[in-house]
Parts: sequence; C-alpha cells; structure tokens
Amino acid sequence: VGDSQDYDKEVASVCPFCGVGCQVSLKVKDNKVVYVEGINGPANEGRLCVKGRFGFDYIHHDHRLTKPLIRRADAPAKGLNVDPNNWQEVFREATWDEALDFAAKGLKGRGREVAGFGSAKCTNEEAYLFQKFIRQGFGHNNVDHCTRLCHASSVAALLENVGSGAVTATFNEIENADVAIVIGANPIENHPVAATYFKQFAKRGGKLIVMDPRGQALKRHATHMLQFRPGADVSMLNAIMHVIVEEELYDRQYIEAYTENWEAEKAHLADFAPEKMADICGIDAETLRAVARDFARGKAGMIFWGMGVSQHIHGTDNSRCLISLALMTGHVGRPGAGLHPLRGQNNVQGASDAGLIPMFLPDYQSVMDDGVRSAFTEVWGSEDFSNQKGLTVTEIMDAVHEGYIKAMYILGENPAMSDPDVEHARDALAKLDHLVVQDIFLTETANYADVILPASAFAEKSGTVTNTNRQVQMGRPAVTPPGEAREDWAITTELARRCGMEWGYDSPADVFAEMKLNMRSLENITWDRLARENAVTYPSLSPEDPGQPIVFGDGFPRPQGRARFTPASVIAPDDVPDADYPMILTTGRQLEHWHTGSMTRRSAVLDAVEPEANCSLHPSTLRKLGVEPGGHVRLTTKRGSVVVMARADRAVAPDMVFLPFAYVEAAANILTNPALDPYGKIPEFKFSAVRVEAADAG
Ligand code: SF4
Repeated sequence: VGDSQDYDKEVASVCPFCGVGCQVSLKVKDNKVVYVEGINGPANEGRLCVKGRFGFDYIHHDHRLTKPLIRRADAPAKGLNVDPNNWQEVFREATWDEALDFAAKGLKGRGREVAGFGSAKCTNEEAYLFQKFIRQGFGHNNVDHCTRLCHASSVAALLENVGSGAVTATFNEIENADVAIVIGANPIENHPVAATYFKQFAKRGGKLIVMDPRGQALKRHATHMLQFRPGADVSMLNAIMHVIVEEELYDRQYIEAYTENWEAEKAHLADFAPEKMADICGIDAETLRAVARDFARGKAGMIFWGMGVSQHIHGTDNSRCLISLALMTGHVGRPGAGLHPLRGQNNVQGASDAGLIPMFLPDYQSVMDDGVRSAFTEVWGSEDFSNQKGLTVTEIMDAVHEGYIKAMYILGENPAMSDPDVEHARDALAKLDHLVVQDIFLTETANYADVILPASAFAEKSGTVTNTNRQVQMGRPAVTPPGEAREDWAITTELARRCGMEWGYDSPADVFAEMKLNMRSLENITWDRLARENAVTYPSLSPEDPGQPIVFGDGFPRPQGRARFTPASVIAPDDVPDADYPMILTTGRQLEHWHTGSMTRRSAVLDAVEPEANCSLHPSTLRKLGVEPGGHVRLTTKRGSVVVMARADRAVAPDMVFLPFAYVEAAANILTNPALDPYGKIPEFKFSAVRVEAADAG
C-alpha cells in the first residue's frame, strides 16, 4: 500500500472487480499504481470496499505475462501442470507476429470447429469485437461468457416478462424506498458498496427483508431474516404471493393497467398457502404472512437478488416469482420501486449488452431475426451468418468432448476453474487441437493453451464498462502494460485481420462509434460525452440527460406495453442428498477474493487476509465430525473430492457446507453439478449433495 502523498499523477477510472462499478482515482508514481481512492461516481459517491481500495497491486505482479508464448513441441501432455515461476518447460517466448500468425493459422477457415469465450472483465468495446470476431469470421453464434454462470436465468426471466434484461431501477434508489427484499445475495461480501446503501436504508427506518439459506451480516440490519431451506425459493415466494392474493393486498389498478396473465397467476398461487409451505421452506406461516403484508403495504418497494436465486435448475422460475411479486404490488417504475439483479463482474452487464451471448446480438436483438442480422452485416460489410442460437458455455465444453468443436479462442475467462464439474471442462480444454488464450496471467486455463497472447489489466487501457445500474462509465489508462503486453481490443483486431477480416479500428473510440449504429441503448451516449462526464446511465433521453435511473413508469417494452405474470411451479434440485451424500454443498465468493482468484490471490493485502482455501460448517457439524475449527475436512460429491480447512460458522445450517470458489488447491467446481436451468442454461452451483468427513491437512 503506497504513501498517500507520494504520486506523480492521478487518473480517474473504474474498479475492475464487482458489478457495483465504483469510480476510482488511480495514484501513479514511476508507472506504478501506488494507491487508490474512491471518487464521486454515481454508484459509489466516493466509497470503496477492501478490493477496490487495496486490491490493485496484482497489476504489477511478477507473474504478469509480458511476451507472447507458444507451447513447445516437446511440452508434456496438456494438463494443469504449468508452474507460473517455471513455465519455460512448457512454453517458449515468441514475437507478436509469430504468435498471432500461429494463433490465426489454427483458427482461420475452420467455421463451426471454432468457438469463443469472451470476458466480463474486458470493456464493452472488447466484448463487442469478440462476438463480432466469431460471428463474422466463423459464421455462427458459438460465443458466450461468464454471464452464463451468473445471471443468465435472471436475464431470461426479465426478458420474458418485462421485455428488458437489465435492472428497472438503480440500487441507489433504495434511498426512496420504504421496504426492500434482498434474496439469494450476500451484498456485504459480494457488493459491499451497494450494501452500505442498504444499511443506511435500514438505519433510517426502512423495512429490510433478507432471505437466504445462509445467515449473513446484513441480517443485523433486517426487520425479517428468512433463513429458508436451500432450493425452496419458489415454495416460499409463492406462499408470500398467496397471502397477497388471499388478503387482497395487491395493486389492482397497476395490474389492470400494466400487466397480463394475472388470472392465471392468481389461480396458480391458490395451492401455496403458507401453512402448507412452512415445513417445505423452513419458515413459519406467520412470518411468511408478515413479510407479505410488509412488502405489499410498502409505498415503494425494491427487490434485489443475487446468484442464490439464479444458480439453480429452477433459477428462471425463482426470478419469475420475484418479477410477479413486484408486479402484483405495483413496485416497479417509480422512485424507490423496482427489480434489481445485482450483477457480479464489473462488466457483465456491458458484455451482455454488447452481444457476447449465443442467442443475441448487441442490445438483446435475436440472432434468429433476419432483419437484425442484416443490420449488423451491413455495418460489418460481411456475409450473413447462422440464424441458429449458438451453444452456451457448458454446451461448448460438451461439444468439444463430442468432437464437434476442436479449436477455441478464450479471452480473459478461466473455465478451468469456473465451469461446473470442472474436470469435465479441463478434459475438454486438453482435447482441443488449438487453444488461443489471451490473458494477463498464466491462468489455469492458459495451462492448456497452444498460444498465449499477453493482455492488459484495467489500469492499462481505455474503454467503457457498464455496471449493475446500467451506468456506462469510462475507464482510462493510468500505466503502460508490462513488457510487450497489449490492449485486448488491439490484439483481437490484429487476430481478426490475420483470420481474413478487414477491420480498420484505430482505437476503442472507433469501436464504440460502430456499436452505436445498432444499439439503441447507447442513444445520446457518445465517447466524447463519457470522456467529459465519466458516466451516463442508459437510457439517456437527450445529449444533456444523465440517464434514467428508473425505467418502465409508463409501460414495458412488450406487446401492448404490458409486463407478464408467468406462474412458477416447484422443481426439486437436481442432486438431492441421500445416504452416501447426506449434506448440501453451496458455493460462492468471499469479500477478499474475486471469482477464480487470478487477480485477488496475487494482491498482497487481500491474499494476506484470506490466504488459504476454506469452507464453513456449523459448529455442531464440526463437533459431530470431531474436527476443530481450523482443522481439515474432505468434501466429496458424485463428481469428485477436495480437502479444505474448515471454519466454524453459525450462519451455515447444520446440514450445509459453504465453499468459496477462488482457490485452485481446493477447487469448488470439482464438486459442483453441471445440471442446467432449461431457460437460462445456468448450472446449479448452489446445490449439490455432499459427504463431509474429517481429513488430514495433506
Ligand atoms: Fe470495487 Fe465492487 Fe468494491 Fe466497489 S464494491 S470497490 S466496484 S469491488
């Protein structure tokens, strides 16, 4: 951590970690970021969490890739076997020309044999270029990114029922609410600056209803804490809505003016009396009734949700319930009212908006629509491409195993850590005959690469990112990349040229200008404006409008302007406990570590606070196992087994174990279930049957 007075220049940019999108001032001395301060962005108003404030030094870590690398002809078989301090046994340094030619040679002309994973850690311009690379260069839509592992089911439900995949209100709107639900999210750990607004809301008397199978710090601020049975979300939410119908607490005028399918929803809810659902969801009927009354009677209510809602095979149904709850109470489209899935990565909203998904071009325009495709190919000056939805993240890995996909271009993603049943993904990566990885570190995925292209960290490049609030923000370079590393947009552009595409971009601003041609969401938002104002929320109604924090006050982007109620039935989790695997495993993040740990585990402060792979178990469970806190346990599911240090945590129910997924030495995804939600195609990371046993540390 640097000296707070000692710097040569300061540069305004955006935090590279979570979807809150805090604006930061990077203080630079001798081409090094020496410390970071929060500045007055629309989402953070000067606040930062521990990651934003202290998690920047990975930028200058010794492990940074500084030259292109090519796998040696005599390298050992592909596997998770490259030491970042001794990679020369597997790779050799190459010039950029040699590496790019080699990368392009293995991709060019291979059509459907090629697939791509882009990244929510890159900018909007880089996400746009990446999806264009696959669609224009290879003629299909087999391109995706980590939204598939995060909020794909939320987006599916939102598009289906309100006609838009983004939030209807910023999280800061909680200032104008008098009641709020936070479900399946742990914002104090995962969206810490957003959590400060939630705590302030509770402090000034707002009714804060927290619902989560795990207890959490936010419960200290809650008027109700519903620690429900894992997987019982739909039963619980339908029971709450049942009360609203039964006691006629719904907003009849709003429902008549702005919605459709209400009668079907009402009829469906008749079966979900709280007295019937109480045992199923582990919450007594009176509490369910009290929560229903508080939320429905609130003047303005918001619903926030996280991956506890989305990462289930019934993730889309969970989100449908939350949308229905907001619609029936009229809690949408007004100050202090709205639906807000808290997005995970810093640019997962923007990467999705930019079309880095297999079913949609930018702005969620369907790849199946001939007019939409021709609007893009006209701008691109290229031929038509497939009108079939492409494969998603996990489907692409299956297609590698089946032999249909043989080459991949992976930019900034780490499927060798992040995919469910990760040994399946690692085996797929090893099977590829050509893998191009573009990243800043020799990640677990880069272990399997044939060629590695060294890229830039956020503080080394220009570009826009879009946070959970729909705020498009300007990122600026503060330092130059190490060695020969280059900005991602420039690498993808060079690779595209060598694959035969005539791309003429000279800067991210050129790319942004092209994006605007087919993205109505960017109307009135220009590069120059962002350079001046730092952030504009979409939609922006005029060149002066800072953007609309609340949308859908006068109808929805759906037929007749009406949102839809889609009734949700109960679907059991896929991998239920039995005699061999009697407990429930759930996975997630910790405050200090972010995603697969490639950045935060290389940050001295963050790694010092959380240096070791760990899991959390209830003290009574540890006692039964005969394990002291700090001792080790073996976790085994039908997919595999890991040994990890155990912490005692009363927030975890006695039949559950919580395992963070940032640690390669006890990779949570060795254990997780790849079963998918049928709509969002998101895996069930939040529920696996598991056996827990005492183990030796080694
Ligand atoms: Fe960065 Fe998120 Fe923390 Fe803000 S809350 S500083 S965006 S990690």
